[in-house]
This record gives sequence, structure tokens and C-alpha cells, in this order.
Amino acid sequence: MTPMGLARAAKGAAKRTMVASLATTGALAAWTSVKLRRRPIVLTYHRVLAPAAVDQSWSHPAIIVTQPTFAMHMRLLRREFNVISLDEFVARIESHRPFDPNSCLVTFDDGWRDTYDEAWPILQECRIPAVVFLSTGFIGTARMFWQEEIGAALVDAWRRARADEAFRRRAQAQLAEHGLDGMLAADESSSRATALTMVRDVKGRMVDTRPIVDALRALNGAPARTPVDAFMDWDQVEEMYAGGVAFGGHGVSHRLLPALSTGEARDEVTQSRQDIEARLGAGVRAFAYPNGDWNADVAEAVRDAGYAVAFGTAEGPVDAGDRYALRRVNMHEGPTAHPSMFLARVAGVI
Ligand SMILES: [Zn+2]
Repeated sequence: MTPMGLARAAKGAAKRTMVASLATTGALAAWTSVKLRRRPIVLTYHRVLAPAAVDQSWSHPAIIVTQPTFAMHMRLLRREFNVISLDEFVARIESHRPFDPNSCLVTFDDGWRDTYDEAWPILQECRIPAVVFLSTGFIGTARMFWQEEIGAALVDAWRRARADEAFRRRAQAQLAEHGLDGMLAADESSSRATALTMVRDVKGRMVDTRPIVDALRALNGAPARTPVDAFMDWDQVEEMYAGGVAFGGHGVSHRLLPALSTGEARDEVTQSRQDIEARLGAGVRAFAYPNGDWNADVAEAVRDAGYAVAFGTAEGPVDAGDRYALRRVNMHEGPTAHPSMFLARVAGVI
């Protein structure tokens, strides 16, 4: 381990010891509230899955919590926090009114079917208002997100290449054009993990992913969609809206906005707002950047489209002065499966 790695490990161990001792004295919730002071915290969820469904999904583990963990989070929020609605959140930002202590907003990105099936009953039971950011091109369709499609297609190609040498040569050449040929070197036990890591790498490149999806479809055909990776339909959106859930824009195609031309990025931002407003007959106030990626042009497009606020994925409590770059805290299973870990993550310790 490098000296830097050792220092990081020591810091991580010290934080875990601190969290454990605060948890045993029951002081963690009080300490969390001191740490946050009057800065609201915005939690980001994507997928809420039954434990048995996790391995069937092509979503990266960094966007998944299991249903029992999510239920624990919501019960703790109800008990320890002042959970507010999007309307109240926006009203306070717009009027520069300070937030009450321990204010918290719960958000979901994308519009997955499990937001309706798994999360919505728990939100109702705990009386938690929430906002769901929709990538409108997927709602009510059988389409897959490019992230999940690339992951599934890479494993399809890997499997077929093992049995067909001519296909392997063709796949090698075509995947190499997109820097993905390392997939073919994966072994049985690591094919899924390798594919998920490669999708993560593709995200980090900040390129338009349509050519990669097209190349994989030309090679393989479209992969079969796993039922667990389905999206909500508009009837479910309407039902949740009638039950008090707010909806916000998240683009149409979920492509990374800074990777697109200015015109395309503006269309994505504006169209997702219009799609939701046409369906719900109400104004849409908030936007979440797909993958949290934005730049000055994108933020300007969001403001021009009439959104009042926009959320990224940079972590930490909200700085109310940054209306179009609001911070959130991403929730996934690993660091939040225990109540004390969840509270420590909310407070930005882990
Ligand atoms: Zn998203």
C-alpha cells in the first residue's frame, strides 16, 4: 500500500471507530444534527430492490439499496429528521428563508419501476414526501438505459465469443474501437463485474454513448431486457403524483448533457419538462442532471427552461446559494445498511 493509501486507510478506520462509539452512546443522531447545523440534506436514491432481485439487475451496485435497508432509512428519517416536500424546499431557496434544523429531502432518479413497486409503499407508510426525477424517454416503454444495455450486451458478446471463434474475432475488432475489448478476456466468475466496471469507465469518458450502443446492437442484436430493470409507466406516475409525490426533469435519453451539442442538451432539458407537464398538468420546478454531470452551458439551459433548482451528485449538505448545482448524498447499500452507518453517511462522515 502506498503512503497515501495507508493514510486513507487510517483515516477510514478512525472514522469507523468514531461512528461505532457515537452509535453505542446513542449520540449519533444528536451529533449528526450538530454537524449539519441548518443546512438541509438531500438524499439520492435510484433503485430499491428486493434482496433476491439485486443480482438480476444490470444496474451498478452504487445505485442500489435493498428494500429492507430502504425501510430502515425511512423510519429513521421520520424519527430523527424534518422531512420536507420539494415545494417547501424550493420555496425556502427562492425566498432565502433559512431551513429548520435537520431538514431533509428525499429524491429518486430515473423513474424505475421499483420506485413505484418497492419504495412507494414505504414512503406512504412513513408519510415521507419525495420527488422523482424522470428520464421521460423511458417512462411507459420497454427501452433500457444505455448503462444497463451496454453491461448486458458486453456479457452477451463475451458468452457468444467463447463458443464461436469467428464471432470472437469480429467482436474483438469492434469492441476495440470503443476501448471495450478487455471484456473478452474476462473469465466465468468475473464477466458480470468486468462489464459493470467497463460501463463505469464509459460514463467517466463523458462521450455521447449512442455510437457504442449502436455498435453493440450491430454486433449482437439488442440484449434481452431483464424484467427487474423496467421503468414506471405514466399511470403509475399519475398515481404517485395524486398521492403527493413530486416529479422533476432528468432529461429524455439519460445521455450525459455536457457530452452533447448545446442544441441537443437544451432539447433534453426542455423536452423532459414538457413531457411531465403535459401528463400531470402542473408546473415542474426541479431538474437533476443525468449522472450529476453539468457545465455552465447546461446549467444555463436548465435555468432558461424554467426550472427553479437543479441537483447534481456532488456530495454534501445543500448550499442554498447554488441553485443550479445543489449537492446531494447518494444512498447505496454498502455504506448505509446499518442505522449508525446511514446516519454517519447523511452527516458526510462516510
Ligand atoms: Zn439518472
